[in-house]
Amino acid sequence: MSAVPQSPTIPVTNLTYSSRIAERRAATPPPGLRRVVIVGGGSAGWMAAMLLAQAMIPRGIEITVLESPTVGIIGVGEGSTPWLRGFFEQLGIEESEWMPDCNATYKCGITFDNWSTRPGFESYFHPFASMLDNLTMGHFVHNAQARVNGLDVHAHPNRYFISTRLAEGGLAPKPARNFPFDIWYGYHFDAVLIGQFLHKKAVERGVKYKSCHVADVKLAENGDIASVTTKDSETISADLFVDCTGFQGLLIQKALATPYVSFANNLFNDAAVAMPTPIVDKIPSQTISTAMRHGWRWKIPLTNRFGNGYVYSSQSCSADEAERELRESIGMLDSPTEARHLKMKIGRVTKHWNRNCLAVGLSQGFIEPLEATALLFIQRTVSTFVDVFEAGDFGEKARDAFNEKLNVHFEGTRDYIVTHYKTNTRTDTEYWKANAANPDISEALKQLYATWMSGRSLVPDIGRQAIGRGYPVCSWYCIMAGMGIFPEGGKLRPASGEHATEMAEIDNLLDRSALNFRDQRELLAAIPPRATEPSLQVYFW
Ligand SMILES: Cc1cc2nc3c(=O)[nH]c(=O)nc-3n(C[C@H](O)[C@H](O)[C@H](O)COP(=O)(O)OP(=O)(O)OC[C@H]3O[C@@H](n4cnc5c(N)ncnc54)[C@H](O)[C@@H]3O)c2cc1C
Repeated sequence: MSAVPQSPTIPVTNLTYSSRIAERRAATPPPGLRRVVIVGGGSAGWMAAMLLAQAMIPRGIEITVLESPTVGIIGVGEGSTPWLRGFFEQLGIEESEWMPDCNATYKCGITFDNWSTRPGFESYFHPFASMLDNLTMGHFVHNAQARVNGLDVHAHPNRYFISTRLAEGGLAPKPARNFPFDIWYGYHFDAVLIGQFLHKKAVERGVKYKSCHVADVKLAENGDIASVTTKDSETISADLFVDCTGFQGLLIQKALATPYVSFANNLFNDAAVAMPTPIVDKIPSQTISTAMRHGWRWKIPLTNRFGNGYVYSSQSCSADEAERELRESIGMLDSPTEARHLKMKIGRVTKHWNRNCLAVGLSQGFIEPLEATALLFIQRTVSTFVDVFEAGDFGEKARDAFNEKLNVHFEGTRDYIVTHYKTNTRTDTEYWKANAANPDISEALKQLYATWMSGRSLVPDIGRQAIGRGYPVCSWYCIMAGMGIFPEGGKLRPASGEHATEMAEIDNLLDRSALNFRDQRELLAAIPPRATEPSLQVYFW
């Protein structure tokens, strides 16, 4: 293939959240931390319990999870980012152990259908880009910029990434032996089963569990949380409380009155309706996100069913209308299967760690599930907290730095999600027109769009700004190019003859590489143990 144009787009490194733990083991944990109480037994509660247990139980700190027998978990959340792979690796849990228990499948990325009406760009794939893509990524970025600058080169992202080839073929992202590249991937799984799996594991690892409803939260004179009182009048005290009570934020929001920043002005969706459909023979290895009249619909393959859901704005349509549109689109109009309706609160608390309370999961905030980022926030929050714990400093400065870091992640991710809506060209409903016309976007986003339209590289902007803490450069190029934000076809200058040769070389490389991968169902039937895999390769944020 011709020389790769220089572009610092996807630096690859062996970094996981767990990579530095060994170095810090010697540090003294903060004094006075003997007892941790986690309120809530959803995904957030059990993921937090597992990560905290790994760091704290060996130091004699007791961890207890309290879970209400009457308030259920949210029970949705079936897609992940590739970081979840690092979560299980860090805990030493093999895919061959957890995936079958959770009806899990492999995920190569997300297809976005019908978000753009620009000819040739009605559908694009947001890949989990990998080491192999370093060979083609430079060409993609170079060509995307050339097209913005008026040259008729191929700049749709689908042609440049191995994950896209795998998803198109329903292949799993695990290469056969001797394939020299590690392919990045995420998972799909059953949200209820993953909670049950982690519950079982956490208890095995020494976490205590109590089924009880917290009826009251008592504050100490200094404003910290002193204890929680259960419905049966038992008082439970702790040095650190972890709020995993879901959207209500019983401790962080209700008891401590931590201010909340709503994102409703630029992310309009606040409700969802979900229902399953039967799985097909050839299990896909991607999520499909299809734009609907008042929002979008997910289709997520598990080993035993598809999860489907319509995320919409209740300002634009009623729950009944949304359910009908969902049923129609998935062929379930006359089916007796019941749909589940959910409300969502979009935004974040200002302090994820306030006094002696750490908020994790929906209690700390939620950006709608378009890119399936919520479990990543849980993982990031707890892992970053463990970093502070391992460093032995629970002072105000450490707390402020922790909160700042998470807020930047939230804002950067929000801006990426907003871009899906802001760049849409649909005109079928007021909902889509209002999204495209919405002036209420961050300054960082305005600058990024201006840079793109000027034909300059996004790389320096993304590297410099907080916006790059949400999504890497590769993802920004995929969304801007995938939505087709280029001069119209008739206004483009013809490309040179070399361009066609270059594209044929890229096709050849990716097609040949894809031959190394197996069908998803075949692989799921016999997930190989981790020992045969190379080390995890992930992006540097
Ligand atoms: C429509 C939708 C789609 C989503 N899709 C994705 C996705 O694809 N990927 C992703 O990563 N995330 C997704 N999410 C988010 C994901 O579901 C959540 O982030 C995740 O499940 C964590 O939820 P949680 O544990 O914070 O809250 P919950 O699941 O609501 O758990 C709350 C827990 O608190 C307990 N509790 C509540 N009150 C009390 C009390 N008084 N006393 C004791 N216990 C109490 C409950 O019993 C429960 O155990 C989605 C969310 C929605 C709404």
